[in-house]
Amino acid sequence: MPELPEVETMVLGLRKDLLGRTLSGVRIFDKSVLRNTPARLLGKMRGARVISLKRKGKFLVFRLSNGAALLFHLKMTGRLLLRESGLPKGRWERLQMEFDGWKKSVFFVDPRRFGYLAVDAGGRECPVPLLYELGPDALAVSRQELEDILAASRRPVKALLLDQRSIAGLGNIYVDESLHRAGIHPAAPALSATPEQAAALYRAMRNILRKAVECGGSSVRSYRDSRGNAGSFQRLHRVYGRQGEKCRRCGSEIEYAKVASRGTHFCPACQKKPAGRRRRKG
Ligand SMILES: [Zn+2]
Repeated sequence: MPELPEVETMVLGLRKDLLGRTLSGVRIFDKSVLRNTPARLLGKMRGARVISLKRKGKFLVFRLSNGAALLFHLKMTGRLLLRESGLPKGRWERLQMEFDGWKKSVFFVDPRRFGYLAVDAGGRECPVPLLYELGPDALAVSRQELEDILAASRRPVKALLLDQRSIAGLGNIYVDESLHRAGIHPAAPALSATPEQAAALYRAMRNILRKAVECGGSSVRSYRDSRGNAGSFQRLHRVYGRQGEKCRRCGSEIEYAKVASRGTHFCPACQKKPAGRRRRKG
């Protein structure tokens, strides 16, 4: 949390207000928000214009006219909030981006403090190597690519889909939801997926992510967009957060287990574990 749809919602909400604006400063309230970035580097961002704002996996990437990029990762509870600059500072605000001739600022709010900002000044060393190691984006991956990614791994399919180097943008919620709709057990080895299951996963993943972006993301616990609005996709969850409730497809009880060391929600009837190589008796 937040995952692809929540980050996409945030990017779409900020982009039209921020493109073309000139940064007049970045004020740091909590130094731990900076990742592999010396605070003095932020001074060099003053006077740079925002030329693009894009989502890359679960990162928000601001490209600036001085050739640098601001890389935000929201992790568990981070978000970028657009609000009037003059109001008293909010409790969980870690930094403020100010712009020339504008009454509003962007604040990085993060109660759990795992989120971060890294500045890529365009030198040889990227402060966040993961950004350049991401797999294909979950909204842009082709069916064939997804099939190949699954076929190449013996890992539990859930672990593979959570790994940003395999496929970028998914997290716990959307992996659980996609696997349920595709009828795949989360602990099944990825390569055990049949071509039909891989195709079903491809369709499920895209439909869910698109719908979730339309809904402004899922608001489970703390997530809010850049204007403080909650998303609504959580109402359409079929397994995530529904342990003990009835499966909307078959009526069985949704189960909860640790898979890939993450809390995992699934329907034991709709998502059967493949028998593997064990021989049948008789
Ligand atoms: Zn079911």
